[in-house]
Amino acid sequence: MTANIIDGKSIAADIREQVAEGVKALAKAGGPTPGLATVLVGDNPASETYVRMKRKKSAEVGIDSFAHELPNDASQEEVEALVGQLNADPKVHGILVQLPLPDGLDEEAVLSKVDLNKDVDGFHPINIGRLAQKGREPAFVPATPAGCITLLKTAGAALEGANAVVLGRSNIVGMPMALLLVRENATVTICHSRTRDLPDVCRGADVLIAAIGRTEMVRGDWIKPGAYVIDVGINQKEDPSRERGYRLVGDVAFDEAVEVAGAITPVPGGVGPMTIATLLQNTLTAAERAR
Ligand code: NAP
Repeated sequence: MTANIIDGKSIAADIREQVAEGVKALAKAGGPTPGLATVLVGDNPASETYVRMKRKKSAEVGIDSFAHELPNDASQEEVEALVGQLNADPKVHGILVQLPLPDGLDEEAVLSKVDLNKDVDGFHPINIGRLAQKGREPAFVPATPAGCITLLKTAGAALEGANAVVLGRSNIVGMPMALLLVRENATVTICHSRTRDLPDVCRGADVLIAAIGRTEMVRGDWIKPGAYVIDVGINQKEDPSRERGYRLVGDVAFDEAVEVAGAITPVPGGVGPMTIATLLQNTLTAAERAR
C-alpha cells in the first residue's frame, strides 16, 4: 500500500486565495485593510525567517503587516508596552508575538497582555482555556494545530470516534492539537518524553500527529496500516549533496511510513505552509470582526 500524499502546499495556496478574496470583499464593503503586527524580540535566526515569511505571505493576500523588532536585552516592560501600543492601534487587527522569547522574559505575562480579539495566534491563556472547555469558544485557535485539522478533513479523515495519538504536549502544538481533536470527537492519547512503549501506542492510532522535533523518529512499523499521519516536525538532517549541508525532514521516517499509512504529509510542503495560511485566515477574521 502506498499512502496518499497530503499536499499542504496546494491546500494552503487555496486558503490564501480565499483570504485574498475575503480581503477584497471587506474593502468593497467599506471595511478596513486587515493589519498584522509582528513582534520579534532578539535575533533568533529561525524566528527571523518565520516572521519574514509571515510578512511576505501577508503582503501577497493584501494584509498590511507592521514589523516591530526589539533587541535581545529588551525588558519585560518594553515588550509589554509595545503589545499595549499595538492593542490600541486601530490599524492592527492581529498581533503575533514570535516565540520563543529570549530567556528572562515572562512569555505568559506577555501573551496575557495581547487583546483577546487581536490574539490571532490563539496563545492568550484565556483563549487556550476556552479551547479546553466544553461549550466555550476561543476567539482564535493556534494556527499550526488548526492547520493540521484542515489537512485531515481535506484528506477525508473521519475524526469522530477515531483513535488519535498526538506525540508532543507543547503549548503551541501538541496540547492545542489534542484539544482540537477532542472537539472533533476523536479519542485522544497524548504522548511525551516519559511515555512508555511509544511504538506500541502509535500502532493503535487511526490518526497520528507527530510534533516532537526528533529527526525521523517515528518508523514505518509504528504506523497502523491505512492511518492518517500528520508530520509537524521540522528537523535538519545532514546532507552533503545540498549546498547548505542539510535538508529538512520531519519527525516521521517518510520513506517507510509512506508504504504503510493511508495518507501522510511530506516535510517540507505539509504542515508548514498551512500554519501561515491559517494565521492569515485568523487575521482576516479579526478585521471582519473589528468592522
Ligand atoms: P517542543 O516545545 O520542544 O515540544 C516537544 C514535545 O515533544 C514535548 O512535549 C516533549 O516531551 C516531546 N518529546 C521530545 N522528545 C520526545 C521523545 N523522544 N519521545 C516522545 N516525546 C518526545 O516542540 P514544539 O514547539 O511543539 O515543536 C515540535 C516540532 O514541530 C519541532 O520540530 C518544530 O520545529 C515543529 N513545528 C513546526 C511548525 C510548522 O508550522 N510546521 C510549527 C511549530 C513547530 P516533554 O513534554 O516530556 O518534554
